[in-house]
Amino acid sequence: MTWAARDAGADPWSIACPRCGATLAGDQDWCMSCGAPARTVIAPTPRWRRPVVALAALALVALGGLAAAFVALTADDPTPARTLTRTTTLAPGVAPPPGVKTVTDPTTAPVP
Ligand SMILES: [Zn+2]
Repeated sequence: MTWAARDAGADPWSIACPRCGATLAGDQDWCMSCGAPARTVIAPTPRWRRPVVALAALALVALGGLAAAFVALTADDPTPARTLTRTTTLAPGVAPPPGVKTVTDPTTAPVP
């Protein structure tokens, strides 16, 4: 800074914005044009990974529980046992094998 500039009334502590290049006054910590910190150093957050990992693990457990609950609530009933129906015509006078249900007149037989 020259004496001529100081005598002209220029701020000796003025600097240029590191982002946009606008002139900042000596007592100005933030750029009024772009909002960048001119004389302020923003410290990084220490140990930010642990909370993020913990939240991700918690979200994973919650999603697992949600999926298990969904599967438990939407499980279908077990499939019913199949009934095999076989039609065999026996000759008159032949006895059917034991355990076989006989229907003499299918049109009037009760529906099981
Ligand atoms: Zn700026």
